[in-house]
Amino acid sequence: MTDTTRKVMLITGGSRGIGAATARIAAERGYLVAFSYRSNQQEADRVLADLLRINGPDSALALQADVSVEADVVGMVQKTIEHFGRLDVLVNSAGIVDQVARIDEMSGERLERMLRINSFGTMICIREAVKHMATRHGGHGGAIVNVGSIASKLGCENEFVDYAASKGAIDSLTEGLSKELGPDRIRINTVRPGVIATDIHASGGNGEKVAEAANFTPLGRAGRPEEVAYGILWLASDEASFVTGALLDIDGGV
Ligand code: NAP
Repeated sequence: MTDTTRKVMLITGGSRGIGAATARIAAERGYLVAFSYRSNQQEADRVLADLLRINGPDSALALQADVSVEADVVGMVQKTIEHFGRLDVLVNSAGIVDQVARIDEMSGERLERMLRINSFGTMICIREAVKHMATRHGGHGGAIVNVGSIASKLGCENEFVDYAASKGAIDSLTEGLSKELGPDRIRINTVRPGVIATDIHASGGNGEKVAEAANFTPLGRAGRPEEVAYGILWLASDEASFVTGALLDIDGGV
């Protein structure tokens, strides 16, 4: 399908949580949406059905692709371009946490997985998108929004410093790439959520984190995925046309 009048957004990790909220709101705002997931096809099918209901047949695409596998990412971007004929916005939302642990309890395997999905995965997705978006490659520019974390500022001692560091890489990448890609008419920004009520906490064995957020968040509660999605959508939009290299904290004041 090639529709040159509507913008195309590719969202990694769009089957659940913040990515899924972003996909639904993007579709409501008229984007053609491609999104990826790692393994949970049932959730991906639900999101896809919602998106198709909003904008009609061929307006959305669900792609199984592990962001930590380079070939998967190359294929994911290729299939998006093949289906929609263009790519305007990349949202990097796929990410993981792990069990609460101190550094001396973390296996090498854990550290490698954390950095491979959260940091390397984001970098590879950006690389592939830039090949299509950058004016130096014949593209028309675009916007990239990363989902970092307020963890990069807090450090998360005694809990998951590996996760915090994997998101610190995203902050640095945002700063450097805003300067590198500006001349190619690509803006790149990062949202840094605080505790948001999604499955990610339970999948890392920290399901109680969402309730605990009430104690340490000035606004007295965890955030909702939609509250992060609105920030992502703004950074992706022309309303943010002079914003690049920004870190937008969406954390209830933490
Ligand atoms: P979530 O509800 O657990 O959803 C994670 C999504 O990422 C799912 O769609 C999952 O696919 C996908 N995913 C996971 N690993 C992947 C991989 N290797 N390749 C491709 N897709 C993968 O998580 P969330 O809370 O929405 O988190 C989204 C992002 O926000 C993450 O980067 C996270 O670090 C960040 N963040 C979250 C919070 C929070 O409190 N929730 C706070 C700060 C930052 P499957 O469904 O197939 O598993």
